[in-house]
Amino acid sequence: MYFDDKTILYFDGQFTKAVEATTNLYTQTMHYGYGVFEGIRAYETANGTKIFKAEEHFERLKNSCEQIHIPYKYNNEELIQKTYEVLKLNNLTDAYIRPLVFCSPNMGISRPNEVSIMICAWEWGAYLGEKLLNLSISSYCRPHPRSTKVEAKVCGHYVNSILASVEAKDKGFDEALLLDSDGFLAEGPGSNLFFEKDGKLFTPQRGNILPGITRATVIELCKELEISVEEGLFKPEDLQNADSAFLCGTAAEIIGVSSLDGKDFPIKWENSLGKKLQLTYKNLVLDKPLLQTQF
Ligand code: PMP
Repeated sequence: MYFDDKTILYFDGQFTKAVEATTNLYTQTMHYGYGVFEGIRAYETANGTKIFKAEEHFERLKNSCEQIHIPYKYNNEELIQKTYEVLKLNNLTDAYIRPLVFCSPNMGISRPNEVSIMICAWEWGAYLGEKLLNLSISSYCRPHPRSTKVEAKVCGHYVNSILASVEAKDKGFDEALLLDSDGFLAEGPGSNLFFEKDGKLFTPQRGNILPGITRATVIELCKELEISVEEGLFKPEDLQNADSAFLCGTAAEIIGVSSLDGKDFPIKWENSLGKKLQLTYKNLVLDKPLLQTQF
């Protein structure tokens, strides 16, 4: 459950019980999906609870707002401190954190008036589960970069994600993989894609994807582990012919993919580059030495 009658959230400068927090129904966020959010994780480390990449996530929240003309009047250092307080007030150590910037009443298709912010948190296991995923290429494509600001984490974009995810699950798959409007590989509904071929990793380039903070972290880890990684435009056939693949995101972390549209990848997850990265990523978020890993 995301909240109960004791849950405290941060709402416009105050700590409020979730069950007592109210908002207006006449907002552009409610009616048009015109708002911005983040998904962040905190981990219980040997050095206490740590929010992973807190600055990067709040910076993206700010950039997302600026890209779609939602005024951002917040100080990110202060928001990070308030987020730690939310964790403390709810006795959370491992947690998923959800900041949301939303608009005040305005039924116009116009610039927003005032904005509000709320930050809530709850305990959330791996969002796509722990078992390997059966992926399916979606009939939905990601929004066209000339239709919206695809690099902003905008509430309304997630209608596309929900449609793709529901379609995949209705067909008996675990998750969808969306192409861009030109038919190149893009991303999952809430995660980025990497695939392995001949000992190298490949990932769709920026432009038609949400550039994930986990994706950037994986690219950094590849440098540490001396794994070659190439960003580019790739066709579905490149994934169909890959040796292994994984999805990554804050909520999903790093999760292996066993098959694409019913066809298994030839390299077993345990022997893949993704598995190495999964273990190294876990060490990183837990503040442990990176290579304290048995490969
Ligand atoms: N793509 C989409 C569409 C997402 O919603 C997410 C989750 N925020 C990601 C990629 C991964 O981003 P991150 O690693 O920053 O969580």
